[in-house]
Amino acid sequence: MRIGVLAAQGAFVEHIARLCRLEVEALAVRLPHELASLDGLIIPGGESTAISKLMLDYNLTGEIRNLAKNGLPILGTCAGMIILANATPDLEVEPLGLMNIMVRRNAFGRQIDSFETELSIPVLGKKPFTGIFIRAPIIEQATSEVEILAKLADGTSVAARQGKLLACAFHPELTDDLRFHQYFIGIVTGN
Ligand code: GLN
Repeated sequence: MRIGVLAAQGAFVEHIARLCRLEVEALAVRLPHELASLDGLIIPGGESTAISKLMLDYNLTGEIRNLAKNGLPILGTCAGMIILANATPDLEVEPLGLMNIMVRRNAFGRQIDSFETELSIPVLGKKPFTGIFIRAPIIEQATSEVEILAKLADGTSVAARQGKLLACAFHPELTDDLRFHQYFIGIVTGN
């Protein structure tokens, strides 16, 4: 199994490290030909405007869209979730538009722009998962094809799955808990 991690900008090194700990072959993706023969792709957190612009400049946007439409599993974390969404009202660059979610950027404001909280994510089992939120977005709306996987205590949706597409507002690559990446690998292997 070979998982690519988009390495345009942001926290790609940490995702690669988590995949290596899970003994999965991980490849930093910067150019379109590096998307060939991947079994899955991770779009990391970072700055969604910068990542989207670099994806366009390096001709990755159209190719990733096509691969996803042909069934390539993709995990988008934080900025990666913004890029997977089909509606982000305050993003100047067009997102990939692959998941039927409407996402709001920087939803927790500037004063409280980072926090950690224990999340209940039933698909990962009973043990709570530490959600690390850094200038994080939220999922404001989702259609019925989308399964919401995690919510904050106030009911705000922060993780979702639609078929082979998985998105979260937090940073699973910054914890030692590998269960979110394992769940994505399960999607890649067909679970
Ligand atoms: N605030 C960033 C954005 O809007 C996302 C932050 C992150 O990925 N940690 O792109």
